[in-house]
Amino acid sequence: MMKPAIFIDRDDTLIYNVPYLSDPEKVVLTPGAGETLALLANAGFLIIVITNQSGIGRGYFNVEQLNAVHDKLRQLLSSFKVVLDGLYYCPHAPTQECNCRKPKTGMLEQACHDHRIDLTRSIMVGDSLQDIQMGRNFGLHTVQLRLEGSDKEDFQADFLVSSLPEMVDFALACLKGQ
Ligand SMILES: [Mg+2]
Ligand SMILES: [Zn+2]
Repeated sequence: MMKPAIFIDRDDTLIYNVPYLSDPEKVVLTPGAGETLALLANAGFLIIVITNQSGIGRGYFNVEQLNAVHDKLRQLLSSFKVVLDGLYYCPHAPTQECNCRKPKTGMLEQACHDHRIDLTRSIMVGDSLQDIQMGRNFGLHTVQLRLEGSDKEDFQADFLVSSLPEMVDFALACLKGQ
C-alpha cells in the first residue's frame, strides 16, 4: 500500500541548528518535534529526514561523526516511540554539483525508490528556501517552519508555522486528500 510521507529537514527543523554539527551531545530536538512526529506516524505518515550535510564534502567532519549525531537523534526520538522510516543526507559540497543537494530532488527520488510513497499526500517541512523549493520542485505540499527568533523571510510555502505541532491539522488534511 502506498503511504504518504512527512519529509523533514534536520537543522532548525527537527533539531536546533549548530553549524557543522558533529557532536552528539549538541543534538536537541525543537519544541514538540518528538510529539508531532509520533502523532503523524500514528496517523499513517512515513517519517523521512532529508538533510544537506556539506560539512562532509568540505572536510569539516566525517561520516562516522555524522552517524554518531544521527544515532543520538534516533535515540532522542525513540523516547517518543518514533522510528525514522528513512534518513537521507547529501554529503557533497556545493562545488561538487551533485544531484542530491537541496533544492535538487535526488534524495526524494532515492526515498521513492526505497519506499512506496503517495506523493500527492506527502509534505516537505523545513526552515530554508532550499527545502521549500525542493518540495515545490517535486510537487509536494510544503510547510515552512520559522522557529522563534528566526530572521528568515516568508518563503510562500503552502503553510507557515513557528513550531512543528502547529502543522498537525494541515498534515491531517493532506492525509485525507483535502
Ligand atoms: Mg534547515
Ligand atoms: Zn549531494
